[in-house]
Amino acid sequence: MQRKVRVRFAPSPTGPLHIGGVRTALYNYLFARQNGGDMILRIEDTDSQRFVPGAEDYINEALAWLGIKIDEGVREGGSYGPYKQSERRDIYRSHVKMLLDAGKAYMAFDTPAELEAARSAIPNFQYDASTRGNMRNSLSLPADEVKRLLDAGEKYVVRFKIEPGRDVEVNDLIRGKVTINSSILDDKVLYKSADDLPTYHLANIVDDHLMEVTHVIRGEEWLPSAPLHVLLYEAFGWADTMPAFVHLPLLLKPDGKGKLSKRDGDRLGFPVFPLEWHDPKSGEISSGYRERGYLPEAVVNFLALLGWNPGDDTEIMSMDELIGKFSLDHCSRSGAKFDFEKGKWFNHKYLQEMSDDALAQMFKPVLKANGVDPNAFDDAYISRATGLVKGRINFVSDLWEQSRFFFVAPEAYDEKAVKKRWSEDMSRIMGELIEVLNGLDDFSSQAAEPVVLGWIADKGYHLGNVMNAFRLTVVGECKGPHMFDITELLGCDETVSRIRRGIERIG
Ligand code: GLU
Repeated sequence: MQRKVRVRFAPSPTGPLHIGGVRTALYNYLFARQNGGDMILRIEDTDSQRFVPGAEDYINEALAWLGIKIDEGVREGGSYGPYKQSERRDIYRSHVKMLLDAGKAYMAFDTPAELEAARSAIPNFQYDASTRGNMRNSLSLPADEVKRLLDAGEKYVVRFKIEPGRDVEVNDLIRGKVTINSSILDDKVLYKSADDLPTYHLANIVDDHLMEVTHVIRGEEWLPSAPLHVLLYEAFGWADTMPAFVHLPLLLKPDGKGKLSKRDGDRLGFPVFPLEWHDPKSGEISSGYRERGYLPEAVVNFLALLGWNPGDDTEIMSMDELIGKFSLDHCSRSGAKFDFEKGKWFNHKYLQEMSDDALAQMFKPVLKANGVDPNAFDDAYISRATGLVKGRINFVSDLWEQSRFFFVAPEAYDEKAVKKRWSEDMSRIMGELIEVLNGLDDFSSQAAEPVVLGWIADKGYHLGNVMNAFRLTVVGECKGPHMFDITELLGCDETVSRIRRGIERIG
């Protein structure tokens, strides 16, 4: 019988979720939704040394912002809980015991100093079949000595007893069959008595099994652990229900040279985290996509295409479309270059899709931050101003630079343009323009344009110079949307008063 698809995103709360982790979560989500399956969020917090307060909340908030919905988790509940590993100690303890009882694992009492000594004595020392006989563990020590150590409360770790010389096959749905020989694996630590906690490997396998995970979709950095995981499944007798593995390609630096890191973001000026992160220890603030003005839909779309393609050149896809089109067959094996400019392009595209009214609402806080009271303007006015310039923006915050002249009259005029366009007789010509504008019954763009252009032609004035001088007085520089769209929105009085001011100040 086909099992119901169940996937999990299993972050460790050791800091903010990296953008690569977000992509892993997204692919899990797309795959789950497409197959009518369940998406689990499991918090892997067994490494108490690396636990960072606030990280779990951050993960939840980031996923919610992006629209990645969790079916089962700490907050959502579910019938396979608890979903936080630190609350599953009993489960791990009993599973460690199962392996010990079956002779598939053993206790090792070696102190850090003893391990260090072995490492310096033997080149490339590895705790495995070739060395374990010479170390202090329950395989090499007499049973009464082991009992004595345990009774004395000596600290120990439980190690997985790997049988050498076996070819271990990992079936990866992107990479195909990956075979490695068990001789290169070491006897990994599965549990530490010191804190009564399992290591990642044991907890991960036990939970994937108990939570009936069918597909393990995770970053490529976990591929080297996969053979060990396969062996663990077998050791527990769970080989029949072993999940399929999917190791996603790395996210690479923009130049393709090496793995994308937090430092690349700082160096090149783009966030590598979904949300802004305030480090509770250092107080350091790392920028986030949300705070930089990205729309979650744009981030999702951008990330979806870093390591997957729909098989054609479609680029803009909503979450629902992604769910429909996603397939592991079209996931690439090689790393995906993090093309930050492309990320901006997606944001640009998504902003264009938004209604002017919605954008205007998002623009209001930006206006306020720039000292403009949005309440002093009609919603319709802000909306129209937004609509006229939105084609030029990548972020909502860009609206300010592009449209500030709709809200404040220019204080200064672009000097270069003044030199180029403001000839000696320009003040007089602008004076005439005021009369032409004042003579208009209809100040709409459509009505004003032919009249003004007709006047320029009749007088034999230089079209470019006059129109640019006009623009200089109204906008302050020779940029912006269509001139008569600007004046229509500003209205006759404001336009004329700006031209007057321009004549006084420039002329
Ligand atoms: N806790 C691991 C991490 O932080 C999970 C790896 C996995 O998905 O198996 O990425």
